[in-house]
Amino acid sequence: MNRIAPISRLPCRLGDALRDNRPAIAVVQWAFVVLYLVLLILPALVPGDDAHAGALHRLGRFAEVLFWGVWWPGVILSVMLIGQFWCGLLCPDGTLTEFASRHGKGGRIPGWLRWPALPLAAFAVIGVFEYALQAHDTPRGTLLLIGTMTALAVVCGVFVGRGKRVWCRYACPVGGVFSLLARCAVLHFRVDRAVWDAAPRPFPKPVDCPALLDIRRLRSNEKCSMCARCSGHRNAVALAWRKPGEEIAALREDEARPWEAAGIVFVLIGLLYGALHWQHSPWHHALLARDVPAMPAALAAVLLPALVLGGGTALLLAVASGGRHLTATRLAYALIPLGGFGLFLGALEHALHILHEEGFAVAPLLPWLRAAVLLPATVWSARAGCAILGHGAAARTCFTAGSAVLALVWQFAPYSFAA
Ligand code: SF4
Repeated sequence: MNRIAPISRLPCRLGDALRDNRPAIAVVQWAFVVLYLVLLILPALVPGDDAHAGALHRLGRFAEVLFWGVWWPGVILSVMLIGQFWCGLLCPDGTLTEFASRHGKGGRIPGWLRWPALPLAAFAVIGVFEYALQAHDTPRGTLLLIGTMTALAVVCGVFVGRGKRVWCRYACPVGGVFSLLARCAVLHFRVDRAVWDAAPRPFPKPVDCPALLDIRRLRSNEKCSMCARCSGHRNAVALAWRKPGEEIAALREDEARPWEAAGIVFVLIGLLYGALHWQHSPWHHALLARDVPAMPAALAAVLLPALVLGGGTALLLAVASGGRHLTATRLAYALIPLGGFGLFLGALEHALHILHEEGFAVAPLLPWLRAAVLLPATVWSARAGCAILGHGAAARTCFTAGSAVLALVWQFAPYSFAA
């Protein structure tokens, strides 16, 4: 480690600094909890028709801007670029569930909670109903949506695990998506197995990993919340740079999970596209004009594009992989950058919408914003896919062209700045 250049050592130093400053981090964590609860609860207490609650209404608007305009896009981008530091260091739910777990019953983790597809499945269900009901458009909807997750995180901490973040590891729906996005990140905790195994006795105390990970065998950012508690352990663990897409390209066939590939294709890409865009499409309005009840129309707005776009994406993977099931599964992971930036774009567009409602002339920015986000995302996905496909020129061209078409679907996605 001493031979590496100073710029390469920056993450290592950052990791050690985070490990050594846990009391200061705890102060920031609890400050975030207080800020979060105030911004979540106070606006929801204001009656919708209370004309005299101007200051509280402004607070509600401020909370909406912070939640959906700053926090959500910022966290998505940070997870994709540098990993799940948000989860390990700042997330109020993580702080609360760990605190509850330290003082709770310390029960065993039930088998059903360990079902690996649970977070992504929960995210899909919540996503469908959240967008069908437009819960994020009102303070009470936001409280119901986000507050329920916080309550479940606390309940999980009270009953399960001893001082751990069982909720974050096994159940957090947002964590299900972040686990995918974090595979793209350029930072990770690298473990040198040889140095770990050769560490002199007596061994230091085992790391209190809140995510219950087997750190010695850590190869993926997937479930690591980047809390840095393991930094420097046995001189074998260090926060380090890696190439964008390195983890995706290095994914072995036995590590690629079909259910996760389906989640990337039908949830991260298909469902989120529907949730964020289809309600603005003329077909959606045509459906409503035919006197279809609002709820079925809203559900169709999410589910139809999920099936159509997801099905088209699955076809691309099948063709590019030459019908080889395992290659197609691995290849799905290469679409995480495109899907993740599609989600980021949706969050940014919501922020633009809020600015538009506040009187800012931001609508003309939309096509440029989309292009600026989608171009690097397409290159990122195409490079990751080509690394997986190896030397087959036809397959690489097919995957690259398919990724570009997918990007165009986002570029020309329906959007309306009407209220
Ligand atoms: S492996 Fe565990 S202890 Fe190490 S940074 Fe990740 S979550 Fe924290």
